[in-house]
Amino acid sequence: MPAVPETVAVLGLPLHLCPDYGEWVRSRRTQGTHIVTLNAEMAMLAERTPPLATILHRADLIVPDGAGVIFYLWLRRKKQRRCPGIELAAQLIEQLGQEGNTQPIILFGAAPGVAERAAQTWRSRFPHLTIQTQHGYLTDAEKTAFADQLTDLNPALVLVGLGVPRQEYWIADHRDRCPHATWIGVGGSFDIWAGTKQRAPRWLRDNHLEWLYRLYKEPWRWRRMLVLPHFALRSLLP
Ligand code: UDP
Repeated sequence: MPAVPETVAVLGLPLHLCPDYGEWVRSRRTQGTHIVTLNAEMAMLAERTPPLATILHRADLIVPDGAGVIFYLWLRRKKQRRCPGIELAAQLIEQLGQEGNTQPIILFGAAPGVAERAAQTWRSRFPHLTIQTQHGYLTDAEKTAFADQLTDLNPALVLVGLGVPRQEYWIADHRDRCPHATWIGVGGSFDIWAGTKQRAPRWLRDNHLEWLYRLYKEPWRWRRMLVLPHFALRSLLP
């Protein structure tokens, strides 16, 4: 059993500190792992949404995804590199690809066709990987059928791109169906792998300004992003 990483409370949520999250997840493969990639928006939402907070407390690993969370840690003299969900998810697929694992990987979410295009890019790198996809706009009946299919597939890894907090609720509702799998909510990662959206250029990411790029590309996010200055102020409180 791998050692449990040290945790730091971020607005009461147990964020894990670890030099290599991907390796930690690999070391506990088959034990069933729900990974949450925490940013300021999600932390603030959890604070005012108890059911979401309960799910985050039950997750096996919470990693810092976002400049605000890194700032929060920095103020508390905790040095930790940012771990964006898209990069951790890529690392987990690469691990399975390099190990020659044939247990299925599921990409669930995004508009019809997007997850499939994302899967194709991974299959071209690792042709032996079994990657199943499902778009994220299902009817209730289709959702039930997909959940039943999931149980039969017995996947190693389930990537859920439904956006926050829909993906966290969905994982919490379904993880018992495949208790040995690794589950992670990946937001809009399939859109990026499929090429329908672009990530911020590296220099913006390296300077903790990815959020600014998203605001420029998706200005409708401004209302959601109003929580960011609140989070920064909260960071300054003990
Ligand atoms: N999405 C989905 N089903 C829904 C709502 C959203 O599959 O009912 C997808 C959407 O197409 C997009 C992703 O969820 O691919 C959300 O991406 P976003 O970057 O907005 O995620 P967040 O910022 O919430 O992590």
